[in-house]
Amino acid sequence: MINWHEIDTVLLDLDGTLLDLHFDNYFWCEHLPLCYAQKHGVALPKARDYLMKELSLHRGKLSWYLTNHWSETLKLDIVELKQQVAHKIKVRPSVRPFLHFLAKKNKQRIIATNADLNSLRLKFDRTKIDLLVDAVYSSENFGRPKEELGYWQDLKTETAFDPRRTLLIDDNISVLNCARDFGIRHLLAINKPDSQQPAREITEHQHTEYFDGLHSPGAC
Ligand SMILES: [Mg+2]
Repeated sequence: MINWHEIDTVLLDLDGTLLDLHFDNYFWCEHLPLCYAQKHGVALPKARDYLMKELSLHRGKLSWYLTNHWSETLKLDIVELKQQVAHKIKVRPSVRPFLHFLAKKNKQRIIATNADLNSLRLKFDRTKIDLLVDAVYSSENFGRPKEELGYWQDLKTETAFDPRRTLLIDDNISVLNCARDFGIRHLLAINKPDSQQPAREITEHQHTEYFDGLHSPGAC
């Protein structure tokens, strides 16, 4: 499926790729509406509607990923609320063996994530997954999200990755499309980013559910 001889660098998304997206979906769709309704004294369905509308206005923009933006907008401490459900932060199956496999193959392992620095602290505290990669870059560092071409240019300037010898693994199709337009040659989508949701049908990109097949004894 992947010809490792053609790859020097692996860019790894975090949420939905290395970590179970269930935490994020649960937080934004369940926990936050409940907390918002309690804090502002509105009914839960009304809180849910308001949050979904507000979130959709920012989807794909850097602000969508910034906890400080949402703390100010919603008048709630988002980091503290995330901590309340942090036990749901989990590494996806087969991720740790896959990262060890990449190290053995001398591939550069870089987390390239839209998660902001507050979220990274929380997620790395729980999982220590940052100890299994060579570098971590948040889109907050660059001031633009992975959905923008400029992000990939900034990351290339910072890390000197060769787009023709790089594999990006991500669950966000808009991000994969943008990376393809930038010239990243090897792309792999995750079709089941949330363990509690069914697998999605993906037509635009090569895709997988887990990493088992990528680091089997036969992987070349
Ligand atoms: Mg993701």
